[in-house]
Parts: sequence; C-alpha cells; structure tokens
Amino acid sequence: MQILDGKALAQKIEEKVSVGARELKALTGRVPGLAVILVGHDPASQAYVGMKKKACDRAGFYSVTHEMPEDISQEAIIKTIEMMNQNPNIDGILIQLPLPKHIDTTKILEVVAPSKDVDGFHPYNVGRLATGLDGFVPCTPLGVMELLAEYSIDVKGKNCCVVGASNIVGKPMAALLLNANATVEICHIFTDDLAKHTRNADIILVGAGVINLIKEDMVKEGAIIIDIGINRASDGRLVGDVDYDAVAPKTSYITPVPGGVGPMTIAMLLSNTLKAAQIHAEEAR
Ligand code: NAD
Repeated sequence: MQILDGKALAQKIEEKVSVGARELKALTGRVPGLAVILVGHDPASQAYVGMKKKACDRAGFYSVTHEMPEDISQEAIIKTIEMMNQNPNIDGILIQLPLPKHIDTTKILEVVAPSKDVDGFHPYNVGRLATGLDGFVPCTPLGVMELLAEYSIDVKGKNCCVVGASNIVGKPMAALLLNANATVEICHIFTDDLAKHTRNADIILVGAGVINLIKEDMVKEGAIIIDIGINRASDGRLVGDVDYDAVAPKTSYITPVPGGVGPMTIAMLLSNTLKAAQIHAEEAR
C-alpha cells in the first residue's frame, strides 16, 4: 500500500505557481488577484477562506475578502460580484459556499464572469467540462486528477466508482474521469446496495461527507482509494469518508485525511487563478 501524498504535491504545485506569478509580473506587470465573498459567520467557511488567503500570500497573489452579514440581500451580493467582474485587478472570483438559505446560489454563481470563475461552478465552464473543452475546472476534482497523474496512475479503461454526486465534487469528478477514458459509475444517497458498486471498482473516489461510509468489505483487493470527505469526528479529529485503518491494508494506493485531497484543492485554486491572470494578461496585450 502506498500513500498518495497530497500535501507534498500541493507544495510542489504552489512553488511552481509562485514562479509563474513572478514571471507574469516581470513580463506584464500584472499580479494575479483573487477576490473572495464570505457571507455569514460559519466557522468552517471562515477557516477555509483564511487558508485560501494565506495560500495567496505565499504565492505572491493579491487577494481581497468581502465579508458580508448573514442577512445580506441577494441584490447586494450580485452588485459586489458585478463590480469584481469589472475590476482589472481581480482575475478570480470565489463565492464561499454554502450561502444562507434566502440566497439563490445558482443565480449568484451565474453572475460571476466565466473568465474569472476559478472555482469552475458557472454553467458555461460546467458545459465546457462536460464536452471535454478547456475551461475552469472545480478545484477538488482537478486536484484529484493531478494527484493520480503524479503517481502515474492512468485511469483509462479502469472501473471508477464515484460516491457522491454534488455539483462541486462528484459530478465534475465523474466528468474528468470520463474525459480521461475511464469507465465511470456515480453513486449517491439513493443508490441501492452501494457495496455492490464499490466492490467492482479499480478506483473508488468518495466525497459524501459520511464518516466510515467505505468499509473494508466494500473494497476489492488492490483497489485505489481517493477519500475526498472531510468530517469532524466526535473526538475532534478530521477524518474522511473511508474507514482508513481497516481499508488501507487492502489497497494499492490511498489518500490520507488530512494531507490527501484537501491541500490539493487549495493548490488548484492558485493554479486556476494564475491561469485566469495569464488569460487576462494576454487579452490586454
Ligand atoms: P454534498 O452534501 O453537496 O453532497 C454529498 C453527496 O454524497 C450527495 O450526492 C449525496 O447523495 C451523497 N451521499 C450522502 N450520503 C451518502 C451515502 N450514505 N451513500 C452514498 N452517497 C451518499 O457535499 P459536497 O459538498 O459534495 O462534499 C462532500 C464531502 O466532500 C464533504 O465531506 C466535504 O467536506 C468534502 N469536501 C472536501 C473537499 C476537499 O478539499 N477535500 C472539498 C469539497 C468538499
């Protein structure tokens, strides 16, 4: 069994992105800029935004966080995004999810200019991913693909079982795998007999948000396990969706939590923001 070390790869990618940012600045005077909208006081969202800001600082990016009260109106958020769309210092716009219940998340995500949509959640970029065209791809599944590539794991022709079908994780993960010629199954909360599907898989990629969802008897010998889940256990530890201690000995490769997919997500956000800055610099020439 080999551990897929997302922390080490994320560091390597961050270093590459920092070099790219320095080169862009030297060539064009442009510093990559990321704007984040954070609504309300959810501690997990605040922690994620803090981590993203620190990563931007490390990479030499400009970053700004717009903190908004829980009861902010949808119109006020839209106005702020429209200003960011026009602001030449901003290359990427990130709306920290989830938004409060009175806000229509789909509507908000559609206001972000597709060329600044570094999270890849705008339907324009979702459509490009679905049709295999270049665009912005959601950071978490993109990070998983980078991690697989780093360990020379080719998904072509492999049976991949994606557990979880959200727009942020499961669906784009499945699209990336399919674009890379894997055979893909997508399971979710209504899937009957989940184990029947996971047992058949060469690669299980799980992002459901359920502690110990994937147990030892659900995994075939030598399978590759990508644990995207991030959950807080009752003792306060961060754990994934896989019963790690029991499952790991059966696998050929497995991601730990923490230190697996999580750090890759942030590295991909930086990478997507640099890509946006490079495109904007090219357009401005
Ligand atoms: P979500 O709640 O939007 O979606 C969860 C998905 O899992 C749904 O499709 C649901 O049908 C499925 N699901 C739930 N319970 C299931 C069960 N018992 N069996 C099969 N499928 C089940 O959540 P999300 O935003 O997609 O996040 C999923 C997990 O990934 C969470 O733990 C979240 O914290 C984590 N996450 C991690 C990163 C990262 O950087 N590693 C990024 C985003 C989300």
